[in-house]
Amino acid sequence: MPCERVTLPGGSMAIICTRGRSRVAKVCQATAECHGSGTKLCDWPTAKGKTCDLRSCQEHAHNVGHEVDYCPAHWEIREQRRKANAPHHKEPKR
Ligand SMILES: [Zn+2]
Ligand SMILES: [Zn+2]
Repeated sequence: MPCERVTLPGGSMAIICTRGRSRVAKVCQATAECHGSGTKLCDWPTAKGKTCDLRSCQEHAHNVGHEVDYCPAHWEIREQRRKANAPHHKEPKR
């Protein structure tokens, strides 16, 4: 069965099925309401050699570096960790 089970941040599940001809609809998975085209894949490492791969549209993806984007949920985690690690919030100037 060409069905894909996707775990969304927050624990909810989504099943994406490819019926027949066309490819999987590449829509934003950041929120259920968003139907933007999911051109960005989340690069958050979930396991060795694996990344989250949640699709986000331009609006929902958070670019953190060259070709590195995070989905909203993982961006949150990153931000929280960043704040925890750097309580005095010193950003290097470019
Ligand atoms: Zn979106
Ligand atoms: Zn993610």
